Amino acid sequence: METYKCLRCFHEWQGRVAEYKDWGRRKCGRCGSRQTVIKSLYDRAVDAIADSLKSSPPPYPPLPSSVLFSLDVINETLPDLAAAVKVAWRMYQEAKDRLESKGQQI
Ligand SMILES: [Zn+2]
Repeated sequence: METYKCLRCFHEWQGRVAEYKDWGRRKCGRCGSRQTVIKSLYDRAVDAIADSLKSSPPPYPPLPSSVLFSLDVINETLPDLAAAVKVAWRMYQEAKDRLESKGQQI
């Protein structure tokens, strides 16, 4: 079992990996959106972006790990390119919030 996350309504649920790989079944049970990702993948990306903002803030280029992990998440939503952009933006905001809640300056 794996935990999945809906990127539209933030609903989280448990499911079997084999079923999730079937594109037609990876729908959110609450809002019906297919903009869903494996939660651990999403959290890993947000953590990596937060690390990158901390140790290599703009205008320095982001750490390669943050770019890589973000792409993993974006690949999951790629059939909908507009969603992918929104998801990238949301991960960036969440990473900033995470840093701010720890009381760290960016
Ligand atoms: Zn949803």
